[in-house]
Amino acid sequence: MVAGPVAPGTGWPGDLATAATPVAHSAEQVRELASGAASLPELTARQSVCRACPRLVAWREEVAAVRRKSFATEQYWGRPIAGWGDPAPSVLIVGLAPAAHGGNRTGRVFTGDRSGDFLFASLYRCGLAAHPASVSADDGQRLIGARMVAAVKCAPPENKPTPGERDTCAPWLEAELRMVAGSLRSIVVLGGFAWQALWPVLAGAGFALPRRRPAFGHGAEVELTGPGEAPVLLIGCYHPSQQNTFTGRVTGEMTDAVFTRARDYRG
Ligand code: SF4
Repeated sequence: MVAGPVAPGTGWPGDLATAATPVAHSAEQVRELASGAASLPELTARQSVCRACPRLVAWREEVAAVRRKSFATEQYWGRPIAGWGDPAPSVLIVGLAPAAHGGNRTGRVFTGDRSGDFLFASLYRCGLAAHPASVSADDGQRLIGARMVAAVKCAPPENKPTPGERDTCAPWLEAELRMVAGSLRSIVVLGGFAWQALWPVLAGAGFALPRRRPAFGHGAEVELTGPGEAPVLLIGCYHPSQQNTFTGRVTGEMTDAVFTRARDYRG
């Protein structure tokens, strides 16, 4: 098995990019390519080959080449993690950034790590995922009426993107939000950093927001008006990090309650 990253269009399950997919090398090119994408598949293909943040590109590719000992025989994806799931979702799930040996390895958001195990088990119990586990891009997992995105699409060192990297990546999510806004009824935001990152993106995508950003908390709710004038419920959810799940700060009952609320809102 060769070391990552995976070349576009070489058969990785779910890879929508090809060698001809245009590549963004700067923040300006991210804006141009995101706003110019004609469809969701085209947008996600463009997201998946982006190289606009030199520090993150170097890190994701180094991790993909070196690999963790326990995954040393696997090829890592080593590219940005594009949005994934239902193309016309009623529930959008937003995380901050993929994990170095999770999404950066498997090529799918929240797939192949402990946080993802916890999250997908909850989504499955709530009828939003077809299977209780999500381990690889070809495992047959499917989101049901839901879509998952990362606000920053490349795995950052120490799980911490810089504010500049967050802002550079924002047009990808903004364009995706515009494309799915018509069907959207609720948005679940995993963790306070994603909550902060999402706020300006929502404004850019045409959502009407309250003048003051409400504080993040588990179960915190804000009713927004989407670009199509329909209400969209924003719900905070503690991040299912190992630290949070091991300490009991967040439990399966707590995430189930959030996803059930999101699933049933206006439904
Ligand atoms: S974080 Fe976003 S903008 Fe930066 S390289 Fe990755 S996909 Fe591109």
